Amino acid sequence: MIAVEDAQRAVLESAGPLPPGPARLADALGHVLAEDVASDIDMPPYDKALMDGYAVRSQDFPGGAGEAAVAGEIFAGQPPWPADRALVAGQAARIMTGAPIPPGTDAVVMVERTRQGSKVGGPSSAVRIDDPRLKPGQNVMGRGTEMQCGQVVLRTGTWIRPAEIGVLATVGRATVSVHPRPRVAIVSTGNEVVEAHESPGPGQIRNSNGPTLAALVTRAGGTPDYLGIARDTNDDLRRLVATGLRADMLLLSGGVSAGDLDLVPGVLRELGVREVFHKVNVKPGKPVWFGIAPFRNQQSTISNSPTLVFGLPGNPVSVMVCFELFVRPAIRRMLGLSESVPPLVSAALTEERSYRSDRPTYWPAWLDTRDAGFRVRPLPWQGSPDLRAITEANSFVLFPPGEHALRAGDCVQVLSARE
Ligand code: AMP
Ligand code: MG
Repeated sequence: MIAVEDAQRAVLESAGPLPPGPARLADALGHVLAEDVASDIDMPPYDKALMDGYAVRSQDFPGGAGEAAVAGEIFAGQPPWPADRALVAGQAARIMTGAPIPPGTDAVVMVERTRQGSKVGGPSSAVRIDDPRLKPGQNVMGRGTEMQCGQVVLRTGTWIRPAEIGVLATVGRATVSVHPRPRVAIVSTGNEVVEAHESPGPGQIRNSNGPTLAALVTRAGGTPDYLGIARDTNDDLRRLVATGLRADMLLLSGGVSAGDLDLVPGVLRELGVREVFHKVNVKPGKPVWFGIAPFRNQQSTISNSPTLVFGLPGNPVSVMVCFELFVRPAIRRMLGLSESVPPLVSAALTEERSYRSDRPTYWPAWLDTRDAGFRVRPLPWQGSPDLRAITEANSFVLFPPGEHALRAGDCVQVLSARE
């Protein structure tokens, strides 16, 4: 039996980023960039008006007041104002947000600080400026102040969020190189387990682990491939495990503890999966098994990196705790993220708590992060089969082994489960 930290280290040493490939921009969200991306343009590409109003020569308006002849109107998207018609003293131009300011001008006065002028020549031919704070550069975003042509704007290893999608579009990248999502095969095991659409007979329960794992994998950034329920026979397990070993990762639930029908470790070894660890000093989740299948099944077309195999315990909350501690970090590594294990946060207990445990225990809890100084409340929980209690939790308090009488306000460590 090894410590959680040693098990996490072993998992992270085995998991590496999947070989990168091209992704269309629309599919790049939630991937990790596998190249440095440089801009092919200055942004903004010209000195740009940030307000609707008048482009002016600020030096013409001492104290921000004065009158100018309106030399024309400029809308975003129209051809640039001719360079040989730079505005001269006494001229201003009507301008809309996003349009290039005309040559000769250096500031934009918002329309609310202007009114119609009194100079002759028609109703819109003159404008009166009244903007005491007028100064050069006002309401203008200079060419290249956001980014310059050739500048690297996103680096290898960047997690692509909506803002990164927008920057990629800005610099003209319709496809980018990213690490693909790991394909994660999922197998439930157990003679007693039936699918959600079935009515359980005597001694049977429904399969919650399969759907839970598929959901966890999706949320973690992988692509789940649910293969079904293997009965507790070597033949049935062999068949589904062999299929699962074509994926980047294989998750099994059940059949890894010490019962007579816990056949998973034996079948995995038989199919060439090298055991890295079996049993971790943790509650719930102790029987968890982890290994590496060095060679892909020949039908694999995806990559030649090894398949990571987790034999998770059967109890639903053990599945969730083991996923947070071991599986999610592995998926994130395969996605190309460099971070390691999920960080624990410190929080104050909301109420006193006496307990005793022979192993470090992850207890379902509600972590309140709204105010400064996190607070955490352990929830009523019947143990590792009690998944319903987890629906009211957003985290797990880590109780260290031993006998403890904790008081309200005592500081504890919390594993915050990601939504
Ligand atoms: P095992 O490790 O296979 O003995 O399973 C431990 C416990 O988890 C047993 O009570 C099982 O009935 C339960 N269990 C196993 N697989 C599932 C599953 N897919 N969904 C819900 N409970 C399960
Ligand atoms: Mg079983």
